[in-house]
Amino acid sequence: MGLKETIIKLSEAPGCPGFEGDIGQIVQQELKGYVDEIRVDAMNNVFASKGSGRTVMIAAHMDEIGLMVKHIDEKGFIRFAKLGGISDQLLLGQRVTIHTKKGPIAGVIGCKPVHLMKDDERKKLLPYEKMFIDIGEGKADGVKAAGVKIGDPIVINRTVTELRRGLLCGKAFDDRSGCAILIEVLKNARPKNRLVGVFTIQEEVGLRGATVSAFSVNPDLGIGVDTSAAADHPEVEEYEGPIKLKAGPAILAADGRRDSLGGGLLPNLKVLDWLVELAQKNNIPHQMEVFEGGTTDGTAIQLSRGGVPSGVVSLPSRYIHTFSEVIALEDAENMARLLVAAVESDLPV
Ligand SMILES: [Zn+2]
Repeated sequence: MGLKETIIKLSEAPGCPGFEGDIGQIVQQELKGYVDEIRVDAMNNVFASKGSGRTVMIAAHMDEIGLMVKHIDEKGFIRFAKLGGISDQLLLGQRVTIHTKKGPIAGVIGCKPVHLMKDDERKKLLPYEKMFIDIGEGKADGVKAAGVKIGDPIVINRTVTELRRGLLCGKAFDDRSGCAILIEVLKNARPKNRLVGVFTIQEEVGLRGATVSAFSVNPDLGIGVDTSAAADHPEVEEYEGPIKLKAGPAILAADGRRDSLGGGLLPNLKVLDWLVELAQKNNIPHQMEVFEGGTTDGTAIQLSRGGVPSGVVSLPSRYIHTFSEVIALEDAENMARLLVAAVESDLPV
């Protein structure tokens, strides 16, 4: 399967935080025969290793933002909790799939219709607590008989659409495109050191998989692979969001919380320079990024044990965390090239 097909297959598969099993299965199928060893740990992180020598860990997270069944009322309407950073206004009217032990159940997120809202209600954003999921059953008993239980994961139901000029639109390119790129790297690279590709769980709820897997891999160098917020579109000033589609992967200079860059990553400077030089030497288009909107698995790797020299490379993506993320296939190809070059060269630390 080529990179594009892998991106599409992984993005369309369901995998809320804590429920990444289907993604792990696809990853293992795709890598069979291409790596020396595949193992799965107690938290369902998937590790694929290749080569020997010092250890380079590259991590991409398997989970996607989603919802969880919180309550079922007498009439069979379902209230939900959020898994990961989701803006409430994006949820209205979404079609969803509840993944129960008995199989998938289709539903829709409903709310009070605009025609019945008072003037002041219409002007306000509706909080998610005022929304509910309708699966078509009329009673709680019916919902339960269908297999729906408190704690079941709910995935927004979206297939991948191809836009013009090599752009793809899908629900979970964050970070399934990263997983697909990492698969591509594991398939094609002839590593100069020992490469451990880690497909992590529960990134969107606090870097949990990367935290435990960095401890067990104990790498000499770490690279986080994720998506970043491309904003080459209306309503964002250039200085607020300079990352663009088709300008190559973003090499992270810093990330973390707005106003302080707290809680994020200040990459190892040797790793940072190494990534930039590799891109330059191999004529791979790339862009530099300072991201004030959060952080990624790279941070958990860096803070593991006594500290790991770490960096992050990100795939530019418009509309991240909207369930309609947009990426350029050529950026994904260039990101895979950069990571292959990194894996095939001497380490800077
Ligand atoms: Zn992500």
